[in-house]
Amino acid sequence: MASRPTTASRRGIALLGRQRADATLDRTADPGAAAEAQRTGVCFDIQRYSIHDGPGIRTTVFLKGCPLACPWCHNPESIAPSPELRVLAGRCVRCGACTAACPLGIADGPNLPDPARCLRCGSCAAACPTGARQLTGRTWTVREVLEAVLRDRPFYDQSGGGVTFSGGEPLAQWRFLLACLEAAQAQGLHTAVDTSGFASQRTVLAVAAWTDLFLYDLKVLDPKRHLRFTGVPLAPITRNLRALDATGARIWLRMPLVPGYNDDRANLEAVATFAASLRHTRRLHLLPYHRLGAEKYARLGGADPMGDAPSPTPDAVEAAAALLRGHGLDVHVGG
Ligand code: SF4
Ligand code: SF4
Repeated sequence: MASRPTTASRRGIALLGRQRADATLDRTADPGAAAEAQRTGVCFDIQRYSIHDGPGIRTTVFLKGCPLACPWCHNPESIAPSPELRVLAGRCVRCGACTAACPLGIADGPNLPDPARCLRCGSCAAACPTGARQLTGRTWTVREVLEAVLRDRPFYDQSGGGVTFSGGEPLAQWRFLLACLEAAQAQGLHTAVDTSGFASQRTVLAVAAWTDLFLYDLKVLDPKRHLRFTGVPLAPITRNLRALDATGARIWLRMPLVPGYNDDRANLEAVATFAASLRHTRRLHLLPYHRLGAEKYARLGGADPMGDAPSPTPDAVEAAAALLRGHGLDVHVGG
């Protein structure tokens, strides 16, 4: 295991990575590649030094927009495809800067504006001195994403890491995703895609050509319950997973374990039986539900649909893992 870098060495390595990235990008002579570098998508976060989204140290790029509506989602800010304004009322000092900056004059201190009128332009957030107003999500070019990701190349090289595209549902912006994946692989980076699998099969297989690892969710395997909980049918997800597995694509399954939704024995048996029937895929990560999303829902002006639902107990997690292992799966708890 590599020793933990100091802050100073991190800065030095990051600077070196940045210089290399700039040099490489500036050599882009192919007009098609240059056009792709300018392709845009909406991302709401780029998280560095991530260790839960695939092997090694990774940078996770969060694409905004998801066709599913799982009540246990801990990234509610990822669901809407467009940028969103958040207000942290407790940070507001009522200075009035937001109102002065708002082109419509509707920014009003600690209060969220009328969503039907707000332009989501972010002027109020840019003017706010305390961070009480924040715009979640903005448009990025492929080039900007690649520049951000390449800053940490030395960490990827040391740890066997790379870049992971998550969300939201990254396949919902598949053209942008494809361009980012292609650009990352052209730089020799390991690429992973964290997905619900809900997309056309053509999209999934096209993305697979540029993806070294899929982190693929399996939530509920009863079609009626899947539709009720997530808002989308199950069939495309399982069909795509079988098609992807048949190609020999590298896949780590991920199952959120949510008490009262999918932790019953019948669902665990169904997930285990389905996963064990795949030809190449054996690894499954069990992700115990946690309540990190509650505060985010409040900031976005809504209530957490999970209410005060508990996290699964350690015993329940271990029992679920044991059941899954009993079907020959390589089960890991967490990331
Ligand atoms: S995002 Fe733009 S339109 Fe909306 S409240 Fe802020 S400044 Fe006004
Ligand atoms: S600019 Fe920020 S701190 Fe000032 S009134 Fe608006 S939200 Fe409050």
